[in-house]
Amino acid sequence: MYNYPYPLQKLINEVSKLPGVGPKMAERISLYILKRGQTFSETFSAALLGIKDIGWCKKCFNVSSEPICEICADTERNGSLLCVVEGPEDVITVERTGKYNGYYAVLHGLVNPLNNVLPENLKIRETAEKANLTSKVKEIILAINHTVEGDATCLYVADAVRQINTSVKISRLAKGLPSGSDIKYADEATLGQAIIERKEI
Ligand SMILES: [Zn+2]
Repeated sequence: MYNYPYPLQKLINEVSKLPGVGPKMAERISLYILKRGQTFSETFSAALLGIKDIGWCKKCFNVSSEPICEICADTERNGSLLCVVEGPEDVITVERTGKYNGYYAVLHGLVNPLNNVLPENLKIRETAEKANLTSKVKEIILAINHTVEGDATCLYVADAVRQINTSVKISRLAKGLPSGSDIKYADEATLGQAIIERKEI
């Protein structure tokens, strides 16, 4: 049976491991890369290799090329605020609003039992401990999507935080973000307003 030359087939196999990319799409993407020529392939593979030294910040679990990320290392920020987000892309989105100047905790997912994502798979306990250990934290802002998974995750985070720190205020982004909407697609003005008008839970 005819097959592609091995290096091309290997690329197709690797591309097909990306989320949302099926075998046919992987084939199309790989052939596209091949057609773009050597310079494109080299730039692309150099970019892939370039991220090998990027890891996770030890304090907030955001992406970082250093053990402690740029945000956590910034002593000028408001230490009384801790914003809890689903993923590193949400840190960027919240930062771009210009309405928040505290620190972060990145959960790396939302509770979703159907997809086998349980509370213990996320950084919920670490986030709760962080709220306690850094006693300056007075408010935890849950910048988490208004979805079924988002609601469940907020309950788990709030519960974990209250178990070890009963005095901390816990709030969630206000209306303005439509129910079911995704924070990372919200425009900056809408998200900024939702941060300002956050509601205590
Ligand atoms: Zn950090």
